[in-house]
Amino acid sequence: MDVVSHLINGEKCQSPNTLPVTNPSTGEVVRQVADGDRAAVEQAITAAQAAFPAWRDTPPSRRVQVMYRFKQLLETHADRLVQLVSEEHGKTLEDAMGELKRGIENVEYACGVPELLKGEYSHNAGPGIDAWSNFQPLGVVAGITPFNFPAMVPLWMYPMAIACGNTFILKPSEKDPAAALAVAELLHEAGLPKGVINVVHGGRGAVEALLDAPDVKAISFVGSTPVAEAIYTRGSANGKRVQALGGAKNHAVVLPDADLQNAANTLMGAAYGSCGERCMAISVAVCVGDGTADRLVEMLLPKIAALKVGAGTERGLDMGPLVTAEHRDKVLGFIEEGVSAGASLVADGRGIKVAGHEDGYFIGGCLFDRVAPEMRIYREEIFGPVLCVVRVASLDEAMALINAHEYGNGTCLFTRDGEAARRFADGIEVGMVGINVPLPVPVAYHSFGGWKRSLFGDLHAYGPDSVRFYTRRKAVSQRWPSSVETSSAEFSFPSSGS
Ligand code: NAD
Repeated sequence: MDVVSHLINGEKCQSPNTLPVTNPSTGEVVRQVADGDRAAVEQAITAAQAAFPAWRDTPPSRRVQVMYRFKQLLETHADRLVQLVSEEHGKTLEDAMGELKRGIENVEYACGVPELLKGEYSHNAGPGIDAWSNFQPLGVVAGITPFNFPAMVPLWMYPMAIACGNTFILKPSEKDPAAALAVAELLHEAGLPKGVINVVHGGRGAVEALLDAPDVKAISFVGSTPVAEAIYTRGSANGKRVQALGGAKNHAVVLPDADLQNAANTLMGAAYGSCGERCMAISVAVCVGDGTADRLVEMLLPKIAALKVGAGTERGLDMGPLVTAEHRDKVLGFIEEGVSAGASLVADGRGIKVAGHEDGYFIGGCLFDRVAPEMRIYREEIFGPVLCVVRVASLDEAMALINAHEYGNGTCLFTRDGEAARRFADGIEVGMVGINVPLPVPVAYHSFGGWKRSLFGDLHAYGPDSVRFYTRRKAVSQRWPSSVETSSAEFSFPSSGS
């Protein structure tokens, strides 16, 4: 059976153990993936360290020539890449193409690195002294990525890390590793020197080896909150720079004056697209007033019943399966618990059958009404096709509810009231806010990140923050004393003023 290999120093290689990779639409094991141990991680670090000096010293304008070619190759190979994403993750081909395009936007942004690294300069900062600060790469940096965006999330990280002059080790999700490897391989085709990008597959063992290695200077992580917190704690304790993006529970508030038809239409994609397996998925609709809730539920129900669910690799579908049998069972557990806690399950997607794919991990769209904030289906991230309706009396109550939640990744307000929108955007304790935009995922030239327990660390992912994350600033003061100048010892602290 085909084994997805590591990519170390430009060569494909294996580890003694492998892990199975399943097609969630069929339940079949389609290939194996190398399960990287400490030895594989150490090999990758050695390769990345060896490649660093020459890559660091390559002018940024030359480094980005590789990125221009990489972008072209990603577009040329897009159909093959999205096929791999869909086969291993289960998301529809159209959705996989969407993620790849958002990933490519990050490559385009990295092409601007000569401008982004320009630094700052002050002529005559003191008498005869010029001062500047510039941004230098850190060395070997690593990225650990989740299953839900196997092509896009790695592209949030390494194009910018590499364009800034670092060398990189990627540890993709072991659930859908093939696309991450195929994308990274294209960098070599684009002319990247060996060892600048390395891919080590595996699970916890490979991650811990990266966290403990003194030569890995920074870690970017995206995944669930418990793992994000553990990685932030261990990586920081080991002296690394860490950014760890975690889980979410994203609320959309619907005000009585909103265009409800638009809200219902866009909420369908935001709640059920990718089977709800997006960190920016809307999983709670907070309706202000019972009338708003009644009308919204009435509009959603026929749309949920009409969802086209099937194998992700077939065209024209709305939703594929969940990623694994274990995850499907976890989502089913949440649904059962919501029912026993007294929420009203007005659309029940359990028991859905997809002809020809009887062993796939499918759940249809589910809608809970009258969900209370103390219920587990409200408090925890379900990461499935389950939308919860919470009824409140006012915008203030809706905002207080969101602000009290442990997560703060994304949120949205549906309204026609500009004053309410401004108050919401200003006062809500969430990192990414949409006004009539339910998936407010920032474009590549703005950074991405949540608040509260959705992000551990100071800097957000991609965009301008990523330039700061993958570089360290150096401030240089320079003076060239003239040959006629006489210098004498100066014991007071130097200042530039009179
Ligand atoms: P996960 O936390 O299970 O895994 C993420 C990565 O960490 C994988 O590479 C995995 O191999 C590794 N890992 C898992 N357990 C580990 C452990 N105990 N020690 C060390 N490494 C470990 O997440 P997932 O299920 O792959 O992805 C879904 C989660 O990611 C959801 O919670 C989702 O909200 C979150 N997510 C967040 C963002 C964001 O930007 N905030 C984006 C995408 C996904």
